Amino acid sequence: MKKHNFSAGPCILPQEVLKKASDAILNFNNLNLSLIEISHRSKDFVEVMENARSLVKELLNLPDGYSVIFLQGGASLEFLMSTYNLLKTDGKAAYLDTGTWSTKAIKEAKKLGEITVVASSKDAGYNYIPKNYEIPNDVDFFHCTSNNTIFGTQIKEFSKTDSLLVCDMSSDIFSRQLDFSKFDLIYAGAQKNMGPAGTTLVVVKDEILGKTGRDIPSMLDYQVHISKDSMFNTPSVYAVYVSMLTLEWLKNLGGIPAVEKINEAKAALLYAEIDRNPLFKGYANKEDRSLMNVTFNLTDDTHKETFDKIWNEAGIVGIKGHRSVGGYRASIYNAMPMESVQVLVDAMQKFEKQLS
Ligand SMILES: *Cc1c(COP(=O)(O)O)cnc(C)c1O
Repeated sequence: MKKHNFSAGPCILPQEVLKKASDAILNFNNLNLSLIEISHRSKDFVEVMENARSLVKELLNLPDGYSVIFLQGGASLEFLMSTYNLLKTDGKAAYLDTGTWSTKAIKEAKKLGEITVVASSKDAGYNYIPKNYEIPNDVDFFHCTSNNTIFGTQIKEFSKTDSLLVCDMSSDIFSRQLDFSKFDLIYAGAQKNMGPAGTTLVVVKDEILGKTGRDIPSMLDYQVHISKDSMFNTPSVYAVYVSMLTLEWLKNLGGIPAVEKINEAKAALLYAEIDRNPLFKGYANKEDRSLMNVTFNLTDDTHKETFDKIWNEAGIVGIKGHRSVGGYRASIYNAMPMESVQVLVDAMQKFEKQLS
């Protein structure tokens, strides 16, 4: 039976990417060798890394002066690493707390300096994005999370700040048009919208590095990775390769402007059903709704078994809400086809008919 994969991460990748990726496991570039058994210093893999890095620059429309590297350790390591590279030894930083991932970023940053949380939506179960807060002007950087994977909220309007702007874009990078040159540092774990788990994309403005006065351990030092063209140590070759394939897929689709239109249409279809169908209610504040992770609940939890049976039978997987929120979460990342969103909407309507 065909499955419709709404998993939050690791998550759906385009079928043609998976096909090419599996071919490369057995015979990469007609070398009669596997991609995962050749040297990362070989010409064939160096090309993969260079292609992946330049596709990121091209798709994000980055001006000169940015470096792109593929690291390991997940976005979770970047919580610490970004702080290490940007927070002066006696420095301060400001954070916006919009959910679990922000909270974890704050926790790591606090190990290295004085952190101010400028606003938090914890008071309402993180169902909205705080606005109109003030960012102190004596901070080294301001950190935010563009899309809150667990709660289904997304920043639409980024704060203006005179300090450096740092953003965890793990779950919505490459999904919508933004002026990416407004950001000084962007990081994103691959497994939400770019590739398999195992690599983390870091995009950083070169001129901001090397100014902290810290003695940064090599593996945590962005400048070390940049100076070695993202090959300071063995990169996560397979994850980088599959990410490259996904980026090529996205480019062929028409890049971010094209996928943004599709993402908006998918989200509009699903949110419209949540708002129309009396058996459901959305979790996130309407104006802050994520185009990537759609969170919703049943208006009456006693019907849970009935609804769960219906979507299971439709081949839908991965819509159970995060354990900290409950309810449902349908992740509709770039690779999710409209057709699968329609299958979910049909299941919601079938549920309504059954109960009436
Ligand atoms: C998944 C996620 C993370 C954690 O990513 P790992 O690669 O598992 O460390 C961090 N931030 C956001 C927004 C996420 O969605």
